[in-house]
Amino acid sequence: MQIIKTIDELKAFKENNKSKTIGFVPTMGALHSGHLSLIDNAVSNNDIAIVSIFVNPTQFGENEDFDIYPRTHQKDIELCKSTGASAVFMPEIDVLYPNGLDNEVILTPPVDMANVFEGTIRENHFGGVLRVVLKLFNLISPTNAYFGRKDAQQLLIIKKMVNDLFLDINIIPCDIVRDKNNLALSSRNIYLDSASYEMALKIPNAINKAISLVSANILESKIIENTAMACLNGLEVDYCNVVDFNLKKIREIKKGDSLLLIAARVGKVRLLDNCWF
Ligand code: AMP
Repeated sequence: MQIIKTIDELKAFKENNKSKTIGFVPTMGALHSGHLSLIDNAVSNNDIAIVSIFVNPTQFGENEDFDIYPRTHQKDIELCKSTGASAVFMPEIDVLYPNGLDNEVILTPPVDMANVFEGTIRENHFGGVLRVVLKLFNLISPTNAYFGRKDAQQLLIIKKMVNDLFLDINIIPCDIVRDKNNLALSSRNIYLDSASYEMALKIPNAINKAISLVSANILESKIIENTAMACLNGLEVDYCNVVDFNLKKIREIKKGDSLLLIAARVGKVRLLDNCWF
């Protein structure tokens, strides 16, 4: 497995792998089994798989955890090797932003998808995500790019970018990987102490309740949201809403085009979870 740090090295790697299909998995590192399931998927379904590890400064707000975001590069490299990835691209900030962060063309995602839910709490977050993902897409030219359903809003906005800009890349959504108690894996779970962890389990319980309602053909959003909210009692809930794939709130679940989105805080830790119907 090759470790690539510069754009010249990346170009040389691509030159040596011409005409192969490329599966690409963008990450911020601190890899866990959720990331590894994306990488497994990329390895199994492409000639080669490239993982990027880059904590992207432009998607973090001023008071967010950019500086303390967990960075576990050596362990990440070993994990990527174990999955059979062909290369890890881990550039420094100035490799991806050679003209600085404030002096370049930027993309603006549509407000009705980007300034809702995560976007109301994390201003400019999705603009930063699109900036880095488009740079990575242009550098890597993947055939298939793998994203977790865990970050549902991100996945839907990236799909929209690919569609709107006619990018010739397949976006492959991957299922949420959970721990043995059903908590969705996240690099931020390491901040949960045991009491907070117990509290956090209310989130997958809420998701499971919603799934049982929908399985029983109870599709009214208000009922699903209220039932989920009742399960989340004691957590500070940022949102708990049923939406369609354009992130618009809807009155009723339509199978194949609906999501329950949840974001809640357990102490200082913000956790996201969701369920695709
Ligand atoms: P991150 O490193 O947090 O930017 O995540 C990189 C990719 O891994 C994103 O596409 C995430 O949606 C995905 N991911 C993170 N956690 C999980 C999980 N528990 N299950 C599946 N995919 C995940």
